[in-house]
Amino acid sequence: MTLSADELERYSRQMGLPDWGGDGQERIDTRSAPALIAGHDIAIDCLDTLEARFVLNRACVALDIPMLYAAVGGFTGQLSFIHPPTTPCLECFIPHKIPTEKPQVSGCTTGMISSLEALEAIKYLTGIGRTLAGRLLIVEGVEPRFDILEIEKDPDCPACGSQAE
Ligand SMILES: [Zn+2]
Repeated sequence: MTLSADELERYSRQMGLPDWGGDGQERIDTRSAPALIAGHDIAIDCLDTLEARFVLNRACVALDIPMLYAAVGGFTGQLSFIHPPTTPCLECFIPHKIPTEKPQVSGCTTGMISSLEALEAIKYLTGIGRTLAGRLLIVEGVEPRFDILEIEKDPDCPACGSQAE
């Protein structure tokens, strides 16, 4: 199912989504990312493109700030706690193949993954429980199935490895 431009505009209006460029909104890029996260205890990825996530990942690695990675597509979602050198960074386990199309996303999937992401942030900030450090949660909503995979650092990672730029 693909929404038409009219349907997408109506959906955004009904959801009360702000127009781009409003107060307090800033586009994340390599220039703005460090200033956006500097001094914060954690960066929570609520971004909608992989490219922007890579920018946030690089800024978090450079400033030694933990990052929660969360992504959804259709009825699937992923979540991980990232804080090199203790854990892999995003670029250690996500290939640099930027999708050309935005995936359709179920609001239910987004709600589920964002709630789990908030839980990860609370656990990290309070020291309660065990975060997803070094692990990737994969949710397959259609099955339904929750899997947790161990993820490893890439020694040649361009962001956090020996080849880091
Ligand atoms: Zn890395």
